[in-house]
Amino acid sequence: MMKRALLLLAAAVTATTVLAQSSSATITMQVPNAPAAKATRPIMLVIHGGAGTILKANMTDEQEKQYRDGLTQALRAGHAILARGGTSLDAVEATIRVLEDNPLFNAGKGAVFTHEGRNELDASIMEGKTRKAGSVAGVTIIRNPISAARAVMEKSPHVMMVGRGAELFATKMGLEIVDPSYFWTERRWKSLQQELTTPQASLEPAGDKKFGTVGAVALDRDGNLAAGTSTGGMTNKQFGRVGDAPIIGAGTFAENESCAVSATGHGEFFIRWTVASDIAALVKYRGLSVQQAADEVINRKLKDVGGEGGVIALDAKGNFATPFNSEGMYRGWIGADGVAQVRIYKD
Ligand code: ASP
Repeated sequence: MMKRALLLLAAAVTATTVLAQSSSATITMQVPNAPAAKATRPIMLVIHGGAGTILKANMTDEQEKQYRDGLTQALRAGHAILARGGTSLDAVEATIRVLEDNPLFNAGKGAVFTHEGRNELDASIMEGKTRKAGSVAGVTIIRNPISAARAVMEKSPHVMMVGRGAELFATKMGLEIVDPSYFWTERRWKSLQQELTTPQASLEPAGDKKFGTVGAVALDRDGNLAAGTSTGGMTNKQFGRVGDAPIIGAGTFAENESCAVSATGHGEFFIRWTVASDIAALVKYRGLSVQQAADEVINRKLKDVGGEGGVIALDAKGNFATPFNSEGMYRGWIGADGVAQVRIYKD
């Protein structure tokens, strides 16, 4: 504490001296320049809307436009918060809520169906400065599971809550509760029917209908990272199956000293290869860049064993990477310039 106070004092004295030398104007007006300095620090938001067999040949122009618009809308929601000095945690939650409300993505409205024809949702969120985290799994009536994950983090002594307990907690916290039928969409229902009639209906990756999880990583003006992920899981999953998205260190991780990560793909692999924390560890202990670390895990370790998917990873300087070993991954980013960038295929 003492050391920090001395450092702050030294910084203030330095600023005063510089200003005194460079200007004959009164010093008192110019010394406390912290808000201006903060305004010039980098902000960054990176998102994904799922990885899988996403090929241009399978997509109409109209469909592509809808995905691009959906991703852009989410980027704008998060960017507005970061640009006005809001926290990365707020930006991640707001961004993911937009994607959860969009039926195109496999999270919230638009979640895929279990084998029994239900929607069971998973989500998690983590703050890089404090390593606080929260997650929910197997919830069926919470409109925005990412907000429930945040409530677990901030308003309970726990990190992870599942099923009915998580739902009761979210209800008590005043989150929006919906009838399970809210999550029904014709497109996902058809996907399940296809899966059920395929001779080897299994959890093997078979394209866009399987994946589509959403995630966001953000850096705010205070230099703090946050990460969040939300999903309906995988089409035709068994009742009670939980994927990587709500598991801290697998589908989501954030730590200011290394990076923030959100994953999408075949969850069973992402859990066993502890993907998000492995990437952070490579940054932290081996000094790799986020690009090198994320590539190493996605395009080497996971690829070698057939674990399909990708991640978004962001460090506290604003460097980011979006590697995937599938055909495509819905993704986008937006920085201080406010220009939303969206990509879908390998381009
Ligand atoms: N990772 C998610 C899961 O296994 C699926 C996805 O990314 O689309 O539940």
